[in-house]
Order: sequence, then structure tokens, then C-alpha cells
Amino acid sequence: MSTISQNISQIHNDIQEASAINASHEKVTLVAVSKGQNFNKIIEAFDVGILNFGENYLQEALDKKKQLEKFPIQWHFLGPIQSNKCKLIAENFNWVHSVDRLKVMKLLNDNRPLNILPLNICIQINTSGEETKSGIPIKDAKTQLIELIQALNELPNLKLRGIMSIPSNTEDIKQIIDEFKAMHILYSELKNEIDTIDTLSMGMSSDFKLAIEYGSNLVRIGTAIFGVRAIKTQGEDN
Ligand SMILES: *Cc1c(COP(=O)(O)O)cnc(C)c1O
Repeated sequence: MSTISQNISQIHNDIQEASAINASHEKVTLVAVSKGQNFNKIIEAFDVGILNFGENYLQEALDKKKQLEKFPIQWHFLGPIQSNKCKLIAENFNWVHSVDRLKVMKLLNDNRPLNILPLNICIQINTSGEETKSGIPIKDAKTQLIELIQALNELPNLKLRGIMSIPSNTEDIKQIIDEFKAMHILYSELKNEIDTIDTLSMGMSSDFKLAIEYGSNLVRIGTAIFGVRAIKTQGEDN
């Protein structure tokens, strides 16, 4: 067994264990975050059953997607989105997790080709309180989300699936748990109101077990699957 397949089977076990503690018992989707990793590693993960891959940098993702054309992979965009990237993102991805403003939603909608399924989106929430982080600040999430959700009526090429967060970069477990709890509350409220909502995207290599315990049903894991990122791209800003 290769290291990557061993890591994946360990993570599947961890996900199962954590899911048993999670009261909502929703099935957890594993997105393998392949940014900074070469396409041979993606194939290794694909060969042991991983179908969802996450990338942060558009050009890097497009290069890999081209090399992997024959593989039925679901591509997830996770990075900060500039307006001038929206067209290529809308044309090439199945999911976008990092949407946080109306302008980007409109551009993604307008550029989504009509011959493919609507683009799945998660709205990024900033639970950390740090102003430099992307996402809608959790303290006014309700108000801002209502505006974005109302706009969705006019954006038929988008499908709102849920919310996403990256917690504070801290060793303080209690702080992280508080952020996960706040996300779960927000998710439950939205899910009650909107039919298409089924995704709480939170948890990365260092905290995915905790995230699942607190209700996450989609985890985005890079380093714990592929090891330390080899290609250092464009400055990691989240
Ligand atoms: C890089 C990244 C991940 C994966 O992080 P790891 O710590 O390597 O698991 C998950 N989500 C987002 C948004 C990322 O940018």
C-alpha cells in the first residue's frame, strides 16, 4: 500500500469514529485538497476511491484538470476569488466553497455554461473575527446571507449548498469548538429555510475530527493525505 492510500484509509476510519459521536449522523464527504501536489498524487488518491478534489489557485488547477481530463473528478474551488477569475472558475469547477459577495455570485452565474449542471456553491463565513480573513463576518452573517439568498432567485445557474469556514489559526481548542458550534447553528437555521442546503463545509487536516463531532459533513483535507505541499504557489493566503 502506498503512503497516500494508507493515509486515506486512516482518515476514513477517523471520519467514521467522529461521525459516531456526531448527533446529526449525516454522511461525511471527503474532499482531498491537492493544491501544491502533482497530478500523479491525484491519480493515486483517485485509484483508492477519492472523487472530490480541492484546489485554491486557478491556473494550477486548470493545468491539472487538463492532464486528468479522462477522470470523472468533481473539482472544488477553495481559494479567494477575484472577479477576473470568475469566468474560468464557472466553466471548470463543480463546486465553489469561497463565495462571499454578490458581485462574484453574479459573475459565476452569468458565466456558467448552460449545458452543464448548476454550479454548487458554499458561502464562506469568517468565524475568526480577524478582518483580514475572507468570508462574511459571523456576527452579521444572518443579515448578509439573507441578501445573498434573495439574489439567488435571479441566479438560476447556481445551486446554494451550504456554508464553509476556516477557523482561527490557534492552538486554543475551546476557541475552535466555539467557532464550529456557531457554524452548526447557522447551518441548521439555513437548512430549515432553504431546500437545497445540505452542506456544512468545515474541518481540515488538523481539526477535521473535531469539526465532524460538531456537525460538519464535508471535510477538506490536504496535508494529512498527501504530505507537506511540494509546490509552493502564489503565496498561501488562507
Ligand atoms: C489548503 C486548504 C485546505 C487543506 O488544508 P490542510 O491543512 O492541508 O488539510 C482546506 N481548506 C482550504 C480552504 C484550504 O485553503
